[in-house]
Amino acid sequence: MEEQNSRQARYDAVVVGARCAGAATALLLAREGLRVLVVDRGRYGADTLSTHALMRGAVVQLHRWGVLEAIEAAGTPVVRTTSFHYADEVIRIPIKPRDGIPGLYAPRRTVIDRALVDAARDAGAEFAYGVRLVNLARSSDGRVGGVVIEDAEGRLKSVGARIVVGADGLRSTVAGLVGADPYRTGRHATSVVFGYFSGLDDDGYHWYYRPGVSAGVIPTNDGLTCVFASVPDRRFHDEIRHDPGAGFARVLSECSPELARYVASGQRSGNLRGFPGQTGFLRQPWGQGWALVGDAAYFKDPLTAHGITDALRDAELLARAVLDGSDAGLAGYQEARDAMALGLFEVTDEIASFDWDLPQIKEMHLRLSEEMKDEVAAMAEWRREAESVAVGRTA
Ligand SMILES: Cc1cc2nc3c(=O)[nH]c(=O)nc-3n(C[C@H](O)[C@H](O)[C@H](O)COP(=O)(O)OP(=O)(O)OC[C@H]3O[C@@H](n4cnc5c(N)ncnc54)[C@H](O)[C@@H]3O)c2cc1C
Repeated sequence: MEEQNSRQARYDAVVVGARCAGAATALLLAREGLRVLVVDRGRYGADTLSTHALMRGAVVQLHRWGVLEAIEAAGTPVVRTTSFHYADEVIRIPIKPRDGIPGLYAPRRTVIDRALVDAARDAGAEFAYGVRLVNLARSSDGRVGGVVIEDAEGRLKSVGARIVVGADGLRSTVAGLVGADPYRTGRHATSVVFGYFSGLDDDGYHWYYRPGVSAGVIPTNDGLTCVFASVPDRRFHDEIRHDPGAGFARVLSECSPELARYVASGQRSGNLRGFPGQTGFLRQPWGQGWALVGDAAYFKDPLTAHGITDALRDAELLARAVLDGSDAGLAGYQEARDAMALGLFEVTDEIASFDWDLPQIKEMHLRLSEEMKDEVAAMAEWRREAESVAVGRTA
């Protein structure tokens, strides 16, 4: 394969990965006038493995950025209640319209990732799909100064950039190439089997817990409901992966026979999908000429359904640091990210242990809720800051 001697197209930022973390970062940078290229080895608008339930922080970000309209226009139902089922006890919590949003949403990844990409394109970011990052370009002092990418025909090309952002997911190539090792790791991992069903009533989010098992019901686009069943990864490997269909039905029944009957009353659309589990980590998220965001930088167990919210929060923290342009700005990104992430990371890891009884899981959920309130309060503050800057500009 020959490397095309491209006359070093020069961008302010090359972002690797065009989903929620990468597209959101590109959107924010492009809106500030930076020249941004986003590359992704996948296809525009393709689906990916996720149950895609958004927490309030994510919806607040989408609203602030003007992207929520596209998600609403795609017919994504508004989630107005969250019901926690602790064995046979049900605690139903209304989602108050607040912060400019009517409720929560769980858009399919074909909807949310596409909406973010479209908004970033409108802001001037360029996207190249079917293009894989294979290496980083470095200057003689080791500083990253661009990427080497490979297109679908196997042609290699170098592209220069002031910063390379790895938004390339859990198994980030950028993280591997810069040697960004985790400095905090979780101890537990859960496995998930999920599928989409039609013919089920839309009655908000439902989360089910019994010792050793968990499940969830998440209304989404096209009249479908995403239903997941979750167990410790050991049980998935020993018992469920050989027959996910039977395992899925068994875990739902163990969680709640009523839930199993409800799901059986719908029709499954497509195959069940499985995720074997992955312990969480926080990686060093920046260095000389590079940064990481989204799952590439920070992964935690999906059982608390907070990965997309993390990605949209951290995209803004990183964009501010890139605009600042200094190492101190990037160090500030890491500091702010850790301050907001560590509490969520720890409580998620405890929940993922499945080593709890019902009073303990309730207490963990209260801690999770406090962490999320702090997160939303910080985002509300960002909104106020942005508004006061806008007023200053027009004054
Ligand atoms: C089973 C499961 C359920 C989940 N449920 C939820 C939930 O309910 N709510 C929630 O908020 N979060 C959930 N999450 C987490 C959420 O899906 C992730 O946090 C989110 O996808 C992270 O987005 P990202 O943009 O960082 O990375 P990704 O979505 O992983 O995107 C990375 C992109 O990088 C591209 N890429 C990778 N390597 C290269 C390369 N070398 N060159 C070019 N492109 C490359 C890929 O093609 C991909 O498009 C779940 C995760 C799993 C596994």
